[in-house]
Amino acid sequence: MDFEKMNEKLVEKLKKYGILKSKSLEKALLSTPRHFFVPENLQKYAYNDSPLPIGFGQTVSQPSTVVIMLEMLDVRKGQKVLEIGTGSGWQAALLARMIGAKGKVYTVEIIHGLVEFAKKNLAKTGIKNVSVIHGDGSLGLPEKAPFDRIIIAAASPRIPEQLLKQLKIRGKLVAPIGDRYAQKMVVIEKGSKGIKQSEYPGFFAFVPLRGKHGFKENSF
Ligand code: SAM
Repeated sequence: MDFEKMNEKLVEKLKKYGILKSKSLEKALLSTPRHFFVPENLQKYAYNDSPLPIGFGQTVSQPSTVVIMLEMLDVRKGQKVLEIGTGSGWQAALLARMIGAKGKVYTVEIIHGLVEFAKKNLAKTGIKNVSVIHGDGSLGLPEKAPFDRIIIAAASPRIPEQLLKQLKIRGKLVAPIGDRYAQKMVVIEKGSKGIKQSEYPGFFAFVPLRGKHGFKENSF
């Protein structure tokens, strides 16, 4: 199977839809094979624009959704980024490529089996500037704060106060905020006197954020 050709076709489609705009994200997508980040039996679907199961009831997000989120996050070379919800490690790998060798990605995953899966996947890419941490990302990562950018890859019931505290002034946070079934994609910019918030049109459907500030069992 010519995965490289399939990846190029996907990238062209995302550009045609008008959602992939930045050159640095385009380069990151082309140099980060998505089939490295899915179970072997699903590799043939890796370049479809769809989410895919990665075990433990979790998914690697749909490429168009990841592109929308990363365009909203607006990362720059050399930045320090926190991702909540490592999953397969694919989005962390894209972030790592975009910020370059002088930047650093910290990514937190609550399921131990996925921490192992993501580390194994990331190792195939040769990417060195990602630290995968096992823990409750709803608490952020205070020991490495403050961050230039924070991205939450799971549905969050509210804009998490404790994460805003870990964001630098002029920093940005992107998260799907809503109930368990539908969320708005929100970007927040932190200023010295408060926050500025905007959202992407339409709704998204993410797996729920767990942990202390996530959804409680059976809560809506
Ligand atoms: N970014 C991922 C990728 O590129 O494959 C996809 C993330 S998946 C949609 C959401 C992930 O968030 C799942 O792996 C889930 O286990 C994780 N998660 C949920 N609650 C969490 C929490 N409180 N802390 C850390 N990870 C969490």
